[in-house]
Amino acid sequence: MAVKPVVTYGHESLRTVAQEIVDFKEIDILINDLFDTMYENDGIGLAANQIGINFKIFVVDISHTEEAESPMVFINGKIMDCSGETIDTEGCLSLPDVRIRVKRCSEILFSYLDENLVHHEKTFNGLLATVIQHENDHLEAKLITDYASPSDLIKYEKKLNELLESNAKRRS
Ligand SMILES: [Zn+2]
Repeated sequence: MAVKPVVTYGHESLRTVAQEIVDFKEIDILINDLFDTMYENDGIGLAANQIGINFKIFVVDISHTEEAESPMVFINGKIMDCSGETIDTEGCLSLPDVRIRVKRCSEILFSYLDENLVHHEKTFNGLLATVIQHENDHLEAKLITDYASPSDLIKYEKKLNELLESNAKRRS
C-alpha cells in the first residue's frame, strides 16, 4: 500500500489509452495504491493512468453522499449505453485548480469487473454516473479540458501552460 504521485496535465500517461487487464496477480496492490492516493488527495475518483499505470482500472468513493454506500472498483469497464443529458462543473486531480463545465449522459449502462473480479452490468445515474464517465474518459486518454469552451480555455491558459511546462521539464 502506498500513496503514489498523481501525474498532471501534459504527462504522456494521461494521453495514453489504457489496456485491458488480463493478469490479475497484483491487482490488490494496485487497488490499494489507487485508494490510498485518491484519499490522500481528497479525490472522489482516480484512474490508473493518473498514477502512470496504463491499465483499465479506476476507483470511486462517493460514500459521503446518498448515492453510493461504499468505495467502488471498476476493472475493464465499458459504457454499453448512455442516455439523457446533464451538465456539471468538474475538477480533476491531474488538473489542479481547474474547473470545467462538462456535458455528460445522465444515465449509463456500465459493464465492469469489481474488486473480486465479479462481472456486473449496471445502470448508474446522478453523481456516480458523472464520476464513472470522467474516470472512464481518463482510461480513453480524454480529459475535461477536451470539453472546455473557448472562454474556459482562455481563463485557464496560464495555469495549463504552467502544467505543460513542468511536465516538459520533467522529460528533459
Ligand atoms: Zn480526472
